[in-house]
Amino acid sequence: MDCIFCKIVNGDIPADIVYEDEEIIAFRDLAPQAPVHVLIIPKEHISSLDDVDASAGHAELLGRLTAKVSGIAAKLGLNTGYRLVNNCGEDGLQTVQHLHFHLLGGRQMEWPPG
Ligand code: AMP
Repeated sequence: MDCIFCKIVNGDIPADIVYEDEEIIAFRDLAPQAPVHVLIIPKEHISSLDDVDASAGHAELLGRLTAKVSGIAAKLGLNTGYRLVNNCGEDGLQTVQHLHFHLLGGRQMEWPPG
């Protein structure tokens, strides 16, 4: 499968990894939109939030992933808050078809988003 994030998971292309365990990996975004911009992904290839399948154990996997976000944020020094974003599908401007969450912080975020 020609998936750039699977290649990062497999170590086939480099990434600035800030956290890794047996089922998730977090690495710095190549084009940061904030002083801290990390992508948190499941190692398992799930194409998007629309492809989450509870019968395949994805609900538990994503529960464990979200439970790790605050620890990753703390490790990155995001002590005054952060934003977690998922872009899904064409209208959501998803450009990489491997489920990922943007962890953004290090500055005050704007709201509402565009
Ligand atoms: P999205 O538009 O939500 O699909 O976000 C994809 C993100 O992946 C973008 O912010 C890209 O800058 C980022 N990205 C693409 N390729 C890489 C890579 N090889 N290493 C790190 N970040 C990447």
